[in-house]
Amino acid sequence: MHIDTIASPDLAWQEEALCAQTGGDFFFPEPGSSVREAKRICGLCPIRAACLDYAMTNDMRFGVWGGLSEKERLDLRRTSRC
Ligand code: SF4
Repeated sequence: MHIDTIASPDLAWQEEALCAQTGGDFFFPEPGSSVREAKRICGLCPIRAACLDYAMTNDMRFGVWGGLSEKERLDLRRTSRC
């Protein structure tokens, strides 16, 4: 799971991350590969909102976070500025 890449004591919410149980490969696919499986797992994750908030707050550029792809997060960032 890509949450492994974050090391901070204030991120206890990550202990509930479903992707921690599945491995990170789905969440950082090769360019052009499907993110469907990652998004499906995110859809079942109890901390999806916190994960997306973390990714948006910390400008996480790569991978699927909180059920959104890189492009979807970029689009969300652009629309939230309006
Ligand atoms: S929402 Fe998705 S990326 Fe975020 S912690 Fe849950 S499974 Fe992992």
